[in-house]
Amino acid sequence: MATYNKDQIKKLLELDKKHYLHPTSSLRQHQESGPKRIFTDGKGIYLTDVNGVRYIDALASLWNVNVGHGRKELGEAAREQMGKLAYSSSFNNLSHESVIQLSEKLASLTPGDLNVFFYTSGGSESNDTAFKLVRHYWKLKGHPEKKKIIGLERAYHGITIGATSATGIQQFQNMTTSQAPDFLHAAAHKTNCELGDKNDPDFTRSIRGIIENEGPEKIAAVIVEPIQGAGGVIIPPNGYLEAVRELCDQYGILMIADEVICGFGRTGKMFGVDHWNVIPDVMCMAKGITSGYIPLGAVAITERLRDSLAEVSDDVLFHGFTYSGHPAACAVALKNIEIIEKENLPAHASKMEKELKKGFEYLTENHTLVTKSRAKGLIGAFELFEDREKGIPFKPEKMAAQKLVEECLSRGLIVRAVTFGGTNIIALSPPLIINKEEIEKVISIFSDSIQVVEKSLKLQSV
Ligand code: PLP
Repeated sequence: MATYNKDQIKKLLELDKKHYLHPTSSLRQHQESGPKRIFTDGKGIYLTDVNGVRYIDALASLWNVNVGHGRKELGEAAREQMGKLAYSSSFNNLSHESVIQLSEKLASLTPGDLNVFFYTSGGSESNDTAFKLVRHYWKLKGHPEKKKIIGLERAYHGITIGATSATGIQQFQNMTTSQAPDFLHAAAHKTNCELGDKNDPDFTRSIRGIIENEGPEKIAAVIVEPIQGAGGVIIPPNGYLEAVRELCDQYGILMIADEVICGFGRTGKMFGVDHWNVIPDVMCMAKGITSGYIPLGAVAITERLRDSLAEVSDDVLFHGFTYSGHPAACAVALKNIEIIEKENLPAHASKMEKELKKGFEYLTENHTLVTKSRAKGLIGAFELFEDREKGIPFKPEKMAAQKLVEECLSRGLIVRAVTFGGTNIIALSPPLIINKEEIEKVISIFSDSIQVVEKSLKLQSV
């Protein structure tokens, strides 16, 4: 492990502050205090910073380091591929071996006839690709006006202009002065954290309303995350995804599943839709496809969709990134999937869900501000309320979730606060290799940190 002296650390902090514009970060905070931590090493569920302090990476960094840190085999796969063929393009029907092998492997994992793959460098590009493909499809079918995309409130689909426009979180939309046209938002499903109308038996009333209002002949697709991640780990009730599928079939609309977080074992099955046996027309992937070791995204489409594109199109598909199907990224993805399968990580995540839920129960029993916990596989969350019995949330200015996340960080635990719309959600999605004892450690750090936050918010522990 690398060690750094005081001068080296000071230099790194200064240079970061001077030259690095951080993604999704407070710029004022950065300019006042510099980066919060500078990491140098990763092993298993742990990250180590320049001071040699170890942290449990309970968000798998950005919900993506599924196989954990420090897997030498993945670096080896990249090195081997780069030594043979570092790069070649797939434009104009050129190809190479690792992209062919990865496509075959993915086809064996994805449900139904989602057997054809387009490659990107991440989730936003995958979603933008999906939007362009479905519009292109309808245009070629003789319906150029069928181009609107319906997303859900609280959905997160990324930060390119198309993906931001599909995203249903206001802060991301506020960043740009205008959005791409033809994106609409329906109310999120009712959930175990009680969004939507609990008493409404029609899960998809809001989506249906938009379709009928706009006219199905104007709607190209509905996009949903099987479990909303960045929106606060919103798990749909059983029957919801099936109802969306039925609705799409009823109105002749395509269904896009954004599996960027859920894919590759996160929820206890290989893909989120597998819990409900739903087969979308298009499936977007990234993150866990390489466990974050190298950038890669993919868009799966059904063979039916590909065949009808090929049938009516005598033209070039004018869509491709320089790094579509990058050889080294594909080689790493293959090795990563091999690890996920060999170590049976989806099943392990499913087993650990019970431990996580047990831990959440402990926190709920011992801390009056903890409520509404939920988990599916190794993605979970709980909420902080000023008065959980009366359902009174903390006022945003109390910064309850942010304070807790900072307390956790100071005790060596990395988790995420989701605070938009006045909510105080604490989200976590640790590497899928986490074990029972490590989950207990996470819960124990939470408990210590919550006690401090409770005191600072003038509440008593029970
Ligand atoms: N879709 C979902 C569900 C995500 O969670 C994310 C990122 O967190 C994205 C898309 C965007 O992916 P990327 O950041 O790789 O562009």
